[in-house]
Amino acid sequence: MTVKGRTPHPTALHALRRARELSALGDDPRVDVLVIGGGITGAGIALDAASRGLRTVLVERHDLAFGTSRWSSKLVHGGLRYLASGQFGIAHESAVERHILMTRTAPHLTRPLAQVLPLYAPGHMARGAYLGAGYGLGDGLRRFVGTPDAVLHAPGPIGRAETLRLAPAVRRDALRGAMRGWDGQLIDDARLVVAIARTAAGFGASVLTRVEALDVVGDGATLRDTRTGETLRVSARAVLGAAGVWAGELDPGVRVRPSRGTHLIVPSDRLGGSDVSLTVPVPGSTSRFVFTVPSLHGRTYIGLTDVPADGPVPDVPVATDAEIDMLLATVNTVLAEPLTRSDVVATFAGLRPLLSGPRGADDDTSDLSRRHAIIESRTGVLTVVGGKLTTYRRMAQDGVDAAIARRLPEAAGRRCGTRDIPLLGAWPRERLAEIAAPPRLVRRYGAEAPFVARHRGGQAGVQAAAAGVTAEELAWGVDVEGALEVDDLLDRRTRLGLVAADRAASVEAATAAFSTDVPAGR
Ligand SMILES: Cc1cc2nc3c(=O)[nH]c(=O)nc-3n(C[C@H](O)[C@H](O)[C@H](O)COP(=O)(O)OP(=O)(O)OC[C@H]3O[C@@H](n4cnc5c(N)ncnc54)[C@H](O)[C@@H]3O)c2cc1C
Repeated sequence: MTVKGRTPHPTALHALRRARELSALGDDPRVDVLVIGGGITGAGIALDAASRGLRTVLVERHDLAFGTSRWSSKLVHGGLRYLASGQFGIAHESAVERHILMTRTAPHLTRPLAQVLPLYAPGHMARGAYLGAGYGLGDGLRRFVGTPDAVLHAPGPIGRAETLRLAPAVRRDALRGAMRGWDGQLIDDARLVVAIARTAAGFGASVLTRVEALDVVGDGATLRDTRTGETLRVSARAVLGAAGVWAGELDPGVRVRPSRGTHLIVPSDRLGGSDVSLTVPVPGSTSRFVFTVPSLHGRTYIGLTDVPADGPVPDVPVATDAEIDMLLATVNTVLAEPLTRSDVVATFAGLRPLLSGPRGADDDTSDLSRRHAIIESRTGVLTVVGGKLTTYRRMAQDGVDAAIARRLPEAAGRRCGTRDIPLLGAWPRERLAEIAAPPRLVRRYGAEAPFVARHRGGQAGVQAAAAGVTAEELAWGVDVEGALEVDDLLDRRTRLGLVAADRAASVEAATAAFSTDVPAGR
């Protein structure tokens, strides 16, 4: 590969940059901060540390967002659920972080999502009042942290006609209306991770995928390039573990209790092409809900389960039949035409990295706190674990603060600035429509969309892979977003790999994207 003469763009991740940075690390293996894990937590830590001027290296043994961070519901939660269970601190933290993501750091990757909960007679009045009180509390928190009505509207009841307009697939008999709330939705979780990692790279972080950390201790680790098998020992002033459900591999003292969450994928047409999240109470429960999430490529996700997943941690978890049946049965309680297994074009499952509770395997995972923690190992590795996608920035801040306090005293004056660092492509929400590029590209790339459209001299808009994905997007994934292999493009940069038919229709185009040199200027 050649970079035909020009200086590479500082935020572009690609194979050549990776090779160069690995080689530089071989020449001088001393860094300030070594981050292990390239999910949302690790990417957030790399951005925080690099933006404080620390020499930062992130290693990920697979690809960015290979672990849990690509299997989420893609929601930016405002903390309503935690309010309901009396966890005010974590609810407030969620609302603050949602505000920051939606108004400052990533307006381009987020949007307000209406959550419509249909109300049926009898019992609709009481249920409506109960839900209204809950939504009201959540909305109070939104106002308290300053998220404007223009970004997330106030919740409230809607009538029968409006319910059917927003959610045309619901059954009509005994329908009296719905409660409508609002929360944040990401275009895609893996795309957020890549945006954060590239922003970190722009501040000078080395983001090295397919590099595994072995023999990790508080002042360094052996790094193994999984493509070549070569190893090198790196010494670090601080080592921050962000290995999610694999945290126990880095520090046996960290006890993670993984909990599996499963989603189904159905064609959005099957739900009347609805753009809202249909929210359905799990029969017999007042606090558990199944919900739909309209998503990429004309598909809607239906989630979510919460099942203890003790035992060995798989690389890629899979849904069980019981989970699929439970999700279908619950959503079908409100659908005019029930979904069947044949409507399910794919499923996906992820493992929540929950910290083990006091009763170990006897704890119900749905009761375990979603709070994050910084845990120091015997040798001084600082593991950042727990939390969730929405609160990644705060987790990173706490992790880097702890690293500075314990290992980098000379950096004590360097305060976290990530609240005010827009992620790559960020653009004011109200001005996104002005960006001169196809809207589907703007939703994925924000202000970078025009560059994606013209990448490698592309004409923009000619479908190369499934679901309208263009050759330029695939090439951008290789030249700028650090995809090293075809699966990186399909499974994480574009998410086409979620559905087998889309994958099959896209492999050839994705392979072709690797056949051209890195173009000038990137
Ligand atoms: C089903 C489900 C739905 C969810 N929905 C939401 C939601 O809607 N909103 C929300 O805010 N949160 C949600 N969450 C929570 C959120 O997704 C997780 O908290 C978050 O993604 C965890 O990120 P992480 O970076 O800590 O872990 P991971 O994303 O798992 O990253 C850890 C990484 O470390 C790497 N790694 C491990 N060991 C090594 C090593 N030795 N060397 C190098 N690399 C290593 C792994 O390959 C992996 O990529 C959901 C979680 C689940 C499971």
